[in-house]
Amino acid sequence: MYRRTPRLEIHPDRITHNARTVVRAAHAHGGQVAGVGKVCCAHPSVIAAMVAGGVDALADSRIINLMSISEQGTGLPTMLLRIPAPSAAADVVRCADVTLNSGLPTLRILSDAAGQAGVRHGVIVMVDVGDLREGVWPDQAVDLVTQAASLPHLDLLGLGANLACYGGVIPTVDNMRALIAVRDACREATGLELATLSGGNSSSLPLLASGSMPPEINHFRIGETIVLGRNVLDRTPWPGTYQNTFHLITEIVELERKPSVPIGDRGQNAFGEQPEFLDRGTRLRAIVNIGRQDVAIDGLTPIDPGISIIGASSDHLILDVQDAVGEVRLGAPVGFWPSYGALLALSTSPYVQKVAVRDRIDNSTELGQMMSLQMEAPSLS
Ligand SMILES: *Cc1c(COP(=O)(O)O)cnc(C)c1O
Repeated sequence: MYRRTPRLEIHPDRITHNARTVVRAAHAHGGQVAGVGKVCCAHPSVIAAMVAGGVDALADSRIINLMSISEQGTGLPTMLLRIPAPSAAADVVRCADVTLNSGLPTLRILSDAAGQAGVRHGVIVMVDVGDLREGVWPDQAVDLVTQAASLPHLDLLGLGANLACYGGVIPTVDNMRALIAVRDACREATGLELATLSGGNSSSLPLLASGSMPPEINHFRIGETIVLGRNVLDRTPWPGTYQNTFHLITEIVELERKPSVPIGDRGQNAFGEQPEFLDRGTRLRAIVNIGRQDVAIDGLTPIDPGISIIGASSDHLILDVQDAVGEVRLGAPVGFWPSYGALLALSTSPYVQKVAVRDRIDNSTELGQMMSLQMEAPSLS
């Protein structure tokens, strides 16, 4: 394939390794993993990598991504993560086997849509155990589940919780116990088994790894720790995973020595901001061909430790390359590690080419492998 810039190089073999690491831990606990590829718009190479890594299901927040997943024919069940929009019910029951839900009116609409489509639709009822994003308040859950139980075309599979998203609340034994208590109350009221307890996203993994995750929690929806190899509570590398799974490559389109403070009277920049400038004298600066239209600039880390980002407009990223370790010349590539937020935007930008790059990873020698992994991890400090 003709490689353009800017491009996002995806390393699916490293993602497979990460998925294996996470799946192994969840299975050892008796739980299942739904792999979440929404940060990279469910790119087919990432979905295939998760499947190869042994995930039990695939989950995404967007219907369009679930459509692309089903075209891949993975054979795995699919789950819609975002609370469904009532107006999208017909698409939802066609594209997702299971949805996360928190409201009775929507459940009624989904049941009707499933009836019309001639399918049964699986439901996990989300309970808000403190993060204040989605979920029914715990004291309303029994009522909701009891009423939903009578909807003819739905299968109530269990309950779930989401943490560390809006409020930054960390999964703990206490909030997991709260979820289990709600499930037990719903079981008693309805006689339903409610076998699935979906404990959360990547933020559940530290509790799981500590050995303190209650055994009742048997389902995990994991994106970032598989995709970027990070502990999402503090963004440190997750043991036994690669962090260098995505690599942004841009190209130098201008290279000039310029003063570090603009010359002339200053008003607002293109984004309504009035930046401050530190006078470091005349510096060698490069412009590379990516901008705010494609990426969250704050989430880019230059791979060359001597390069720093000094500003960006819609289409231009301005770098101080005075102390660059690698070669800088017009037309030379400049690489970056993207954060979750940067990856989210890069994946969505049609101006950024996506290329899957194969690596040879020997998964048979797990211990030796993990030691070399730590050395390969990019340092974000
Ligand atoms: C995005 C999302 C996930 C996955 O989150 P990660 O932190 O990437 O693991 C899980 N559950 C829900 C409801 C989500 O929206």
